[in-house]
Amino acid sequence: MIEEKLFIAGQWVAAAARLPVEDPSTGETIGTLAAGKAGDIDAAVGAAQDAFSGAWGAATAAERGRVLAKIGKAVETQADMLAELEARDVGKPLKQARADALALARYLEFYAGAADKLHGETIPYLAGYTVYTLREPHGVTGHIIPWNYPMQIIGRSVVGALAAGNAAVVKPAEEASLTALAFARIADEAGLPAGALNIVTGLGEEAGAALAGHPGVHHISFTGSTAVGALIQAAAGRNAVPVTLELGGKSPQIVFADADLDRALPFLVNAGIQNAGQTCSASSRLLLERPIYDQLLDRLAARYRALKVGAARDDLDVGPLISAAQKKRVESYIARGRGDGLAVVAEGAIASNAPSGGHFLPPTLFAGVAPDHVLAQDEIFGPVQVAIPFDSEEEAIRIANGTEYGLVAGIWTRDGSRALRLSRAVRAGQVFVNNYGAGGGVELPFGGTGRSGHGREKGFEALYAFTRLKTVAAFHG
Ligand code: ADP
Repeated sequence: MIEEKLFIAGQWVAAAARLPVEDPSTGETIGTLAAGKAGDIDAAVGAAQDAFSGAWGAATAAERGRVLAKIGKAVETQADMLAELEARDVGKPLKQARADALALARYLEFYAGAADKLHGETIPYLAGYTVYTLREPHGVTGHIIPWNYPMQIIGRSVVGALAAGNAAVVKPAEEASLTALAFARIADEAGLPAGALNIVTGLGEEAGAALAGHPGVHHISFTGSTAVGALIQAAAGRNAVPVTLELGGKSPQIVFADADLDRALPFLVNAGIQNAGQTCSASSRLLLERPIYDQLLDRLAARYRALKVGAARDDLDVGPLISAAQKKRVESYIARGRGDGLAVVAEGAIASNAPSGGHFLPPTLFAGVAPDHVLAQDEIFGPVQVAIPFDSEEEAIRIANGTEYGLVAGIWTRDGSRALRLSRAVRAGQVFVNNYGAGGGVELPFGGTGRSGHGREKGFEALYAFTRLKTVAAFHG
């Protein structure tokens, strides 16, 4: 049985209460986590402040980069161990979990290299002045992490904050904390100074809320649901602290009749079922131009029927959902679609050897869904896609922009002018032309608009968010 503690000031610390760790592939309890509370968050914020005023804060940008590079190498070396842990904890098929571990290593490589390339500017000004800007770390950054991609989100959020010189307090999701703790172990062994990274596991309403509202935290980065994002922003607002919110999505892929359908096909499906659809940037709406609608639906259906669902260790196309509650939630959407008479075009299949206690659900493709139907509006966060026909470019844009979200959009066409027009017209933080996701590149700024949140992570944008700009105007005559 796994028995985890909190990681504060470079020490493994016990907590008064404990939380169960479930393997979603079997429904079995495989260990327990420490349930951190407000007092533990207080200790972690204090430890981060000490590190920021001490060894970590005194490190040069090049030294910070060197330590992150070392952690990155260690993560890469231990990618199999991390993948196995994540597969058990989140239910991700092993290959996908390994890709997440390697993405974390790549974030460490990227931000290690960026640490000493982050600098201010000089600004031409009045005679007798020299004006320049300094990019200074905020100090203590708080990171509230969801359960769907723990390693990738630690990479794009926590690693960026560390590279910029902050000391971090991390609250992983109660459903999936194991790789965050393993990451702390690796970072500690690689020589990250004590207190630069602190991990407080626990419940959102307890440890998470305490972190979001702590007056000693100078920036909050949150990835999760829109409802909790609003709470985080309100809590941070009381301390006038900046937040980055990466929330939900209902991202469309728009397929025109002139598109390369052979290329599009795997992207259209994978973007909906990867991680069992539990991805903020999942593409849950497929907008298909009328002349190819029927033909493309047939091809999508064939792919759906070939999808296999099973235990993470069996490394099939789709694993279980994270919990029984999540499965029930997604099932209720499917039932609602069926109840409203929507056509189920095709479903995937649950493998015969899938453990009976696992939270498995066959991927489900609905067709002919009205753009304002709840299935085309709500973020379902499960392996459910809806196909919607459209007749013109204008209609495609209207449907694409017709939700409260605006995270990602995909455009499939061979018409270059149309691709450029639509890239401007769609409401999204990332637009992909003739692909979807671009392989998740760590260099590519990511974030949303509307109820998908605000602020950007990944790339250099994260480093700008994790620093504050100081302008120095010196008069020398
Ligand atoms: P999901 O719906 O995907 O589970 P949540 O938004 O509930 O996403 O959770 C994302 C993260 O936010 C988790 O780490 C969770 O513990 C945390 N969280 C949940 N509720 C709160 C809250 N009231 N305050 C702060 N953090 C919270």
